[in-house]
Amino acid sequence: MTVSELINPATEELLRTVEQTSLAGVDDAVARAKAAQRDWARLAPGDRAAALRSFAAAVDAHVDELAALEVANSGHPIGNATWEAGHVRDVLQFYSATPERLSGKQIPVAGGLDVTFNEPLGVIGVITPWNFPMPIAVWGFAPALAAGNAVLVKPAEWTPLTTIRIGELAVEAGLPADLFQVLPGKGSVVGERFVTNPDVRKIVFTGSTEVGTHVMAGAAAQVKRVTLELGGKSANIVFDDCDLAKAAATAPYGVFDNAGQDCCARSRILVQRNVYDRFMELLEPAVKGVVVGDPASKDTEMGPLVSRSHWDTVTSYVPDDAPVAFRGDAPSGAGYWFPPTVLTPERSDRTVREEIFGPVVAVLPFDDEADAVALANDTPYGLSGSIWTDNLSRAVRVSRAVEAGNLSVNSHSSVRYNTPFGGFKQSGLGRELGPDAPLSFTETKNVFYAIGDL
Ligand code: NAP
Ligand code: MG
Repeated sequence: MTVSELINPATEELLRTVEQTSLAGVDDAVARAKAAQRDWARLAPGDRAAALRSFAAAVDAHVDELAALEVANSGHPIGNATWEAGHVRDVLQFYSATPERLSGKQIPVAGGLDVTFNEPLGVIGVITPWNFPMPIAVWGFAPALAAGNAVLVKPAEWTPLTTIRIGELAVEAGLPADLFQVLPGKGSVVGERFVTNPDVRKIVFTGSTEVGTHVMAGAAAQVKRVTLELGGKSANIVFDDCDLAKAAATAPYGVFDNAGQDCCARSRILVQRNVYDRFMELLEPAVKGVVVGDPASKDTEMGPLVSRSHWDTVTSYVPDDAPVAFRGDAPSGAGYWFPPTVLTPERSDRTVREEIFGPVVAVLPFDDEADAVALANDTPYGLSGSIWTDNLSRAVRVSRAVEAGNLSVNSHSSVRYNTPFGGFKQSGLGRELGPDAPLSFTETKNVFYAIGDL
């Protein structure tokens, strides 16, 4: 038996060990899920809806427990972790309406009746990263279950605890046995087997572009469906005609939330040159005001990085001679702490081009609207971004010109369960959330019934 040792990132203490699923264990889970799916898809739509509502209610009754687990396992501030657990309930509730609304079409044709059905795919494999264990898991499993599928989730090796607990809550809530299973373990074992086992009909992968590319290539061998949510290097574009004080006050939260371990982090702040100096004056107190510390404390806005090895990676982007404009605070002593850090590098620097996935932001000046758009798009990624301007025409022009899946004007919001989420270019393939997500867990079947002319 192989186990993973989970370390509390705020204290570096051993939290728990978790048994890893073996290759044979994955195949056994797939076989059981396949059988459970057939019965699930045959249930009356109203009964499937009721089961998902019970699941949502069970999560709601355990929000505090789930949040506390995420604080200990991932170092998320308790306020964030509580929101994340509540989000699981909300997403389940939103998609509990799906079974009774997933209607096909009746298409007018000659000589008969033509109908489309949205058939479930079968068993879905969801592979999640360590940065937002709960939200990212539910974005996959809730619409997939709602569309009549069985789901297996492979959480990241470092952060499996909340997902494991959610799997238990599903059973406690009365979801059929084996329909929804959580399989902790290694990506190279469990994740790989999701890709190669032919009874897993679709992979929902969230993680790095590097591993996502590998998953997509493996899936090609079976023409297996994939949804990919990958990396980002998003731009926060600040024009001279915006509310500069608000743009500066909110910019830290657009990038340092979850210690920058956020695929949507606005890790490049692009500022119009004529207001650059003033913006930096306003940004400094905002960055120094971010409350970094004990994730269990209600006032904390930013916790530690997730692990020692990730801390090493982030640290490598800020060598002693890095162009640091200013930094915020961070505790010293045990824990993987890294202060919010603001850099003013050249456009060609690796801190401008690569996803750091830590609390490090690059601020760059731009000349005009065309320069801002070109700079924002000068990346293989295209996940999110923000545009600050009080000029409506400019807001429309720039939001249409930036190649990214999720933009916000005069705010940094990007995730709502009822609106679609996903990336352009190498940030991903397909969309999660929103009204259409269940359709990506179905095949459209067209049936023509010959009945002669009416
Ligand atoms: P990662 O290294 O790509 O890992 C993601 C998941 O894939 C983990 O569960 C990992 O398992 C598994 N995995 C590793 N090798 C695999 C293989 N050969 N086959 C199948 N699965 C495999 O990513 P990460 O470091 O956890 O997360 C950070 C990345 O995720 C960042 O690039 C970030 O931008 C991206 N992200 C994107 C979104 C989005 O919605 N676009 C959201 C969040 C994060 P192990 O844990 O065992 O390695
Ligand atoms: Mg990784």
